[in-house]
Amino acid sequence: MEVYKALVDIVGEEFVSKKDEELYIYSRDSGVTEREKPDFVVMPKTVEEIQKIVLLANRYKIPLTPVGGSLTLSGLAVPVKKGIAVDLRRMDRIIEVNRLGRYAIIEPGVTQGKLKAFLEKSYPDLCYSMPDAPPSATVVGNILIHGQGHLSQLYGFNSTMVTGLEIVLPTGRICRIGSCSLSPYWFAIEPLPYLAGIFMGWFGTTGIITKLGLKLYPKKRLRDIEVFVLDDPKKVADVVYRITHTEMAEDIITLEQPYPMMFRDIVLVQIYFNGDSEEEIEFKRKMLWNSVSDYIKSGDGGFMFLTSEVQEDFLEKPASR
Ligand SMILES: Cc1cc2nc3c(=O)[nH]c(=O)nc-3n(C[C@H](O)[C@H](O)[C@H](O)COP(=O)(O)OP(=O)(O)OC[C@H]3O[C@@H](n4cnc5c(N)ncnc54)[C@H](O)[C@@H]3O)c2cc1C
Repeated sequence: MEVYKALVDIVGEEFVSKKDEELYIYSRDSGVTEREKPDFVVMPKTVEEIQKIVLLANRYKIPLTPVGGSLTLSGLAVPVKKGIAVDLRRMDRIIEVNRLGRYAIIEPGVTQGKLKAFLEKSYPDLCYSMPDAPPSATVVGNILIHGQGHLSQLYGFNSTMVTGLEIVLPTGRICRIGSCSLSPYWFAIEPLPYLAGIFMGWFGTTGIITKLGLKLYPKKRLRDIEVFVLDDPKKVADVVYRITHTEMAEDIITLEQPYPMMFRDIVLVQIYFNGDSEEEIEFKRKMLWNSVSDYIKSGDGGFMFLTSEVQEDFLEKPASR
């Protein structure tokens, strides 16, 4: 009762719950891992509120579990030790976009859907590495589990695209990492010692991220796709090696599927590429075709003819671009 009252004092009655039906929602994700209900759920709005919650948990020795979209499918945001689930979705401000520096500063509750829609509307020449996770997944949650998005093929894991972090430590103190610790600019996680590793890949056990700087990338006006088909799965690695050697592809997805029947016993390599003009697109297409010309000549592989409907379908799904 004491803890509940203290939480109400911190965030207001509307944003604390100990009701069974609400705790149930936090006891599981869509995966099949262990389930456990927290004792309380709290939805802070500010960094100061998070600090107070952390200090309260320290005083009563209660475990805390930060929760974003809770969509990892592996129960990473399930409070297996009970205690307080800290739902961060009210902290959903896109604080700043630095267009020339190509980075954004966001709060932990910003979802993939929100950031994508915001950039498309306000900064159509910028994008970020969006995973194919549901739009309600948070950007921070994805980065903290070393997620991957449509730019990972080119630039690496999404966690390498972090340009700054603000964290509430288990002591309740605030810590900043990167250029933001020395200046008002969040352009790089360097140049001080790389301490971000203490917080990424630790699933919220070492602190609660309250702000994150994220690299943005050029978004080209046009996108296209080619699908390379081959029947020997052992050759896929070489095909992908040749394609990536050109550095012309934005994203590459390889897949095998038994249905429809025409896809049985073959491997598809979907190659997405982009450009600001038809000329750029055609140049890239030519480079990509040339990279696998040996396979085409020997009859071991070839590009699939795509009708405009199929092409459109491929370009729309996954929906992350
Ligand atoms: C259909 C589907 C498709 C998917 N596709 C992809 C994909 O293409 N690429 C990919 O990488 N993943 C994918 N995923 C996995 C996952 O959904 C995403 O990685 C998602 O972005 C995770 O974010 P979340 O908000 O759900 O994180 P959560 O599950 O809420 O959090 C992840 C972990 O971080 C901790 N945490 C969350 N916020 C904070 C914070 N502010 N401070 C400290 N700790 C915190 C949580 O306690 C938890 O341990 C997919 C999932 C589904 C269901």
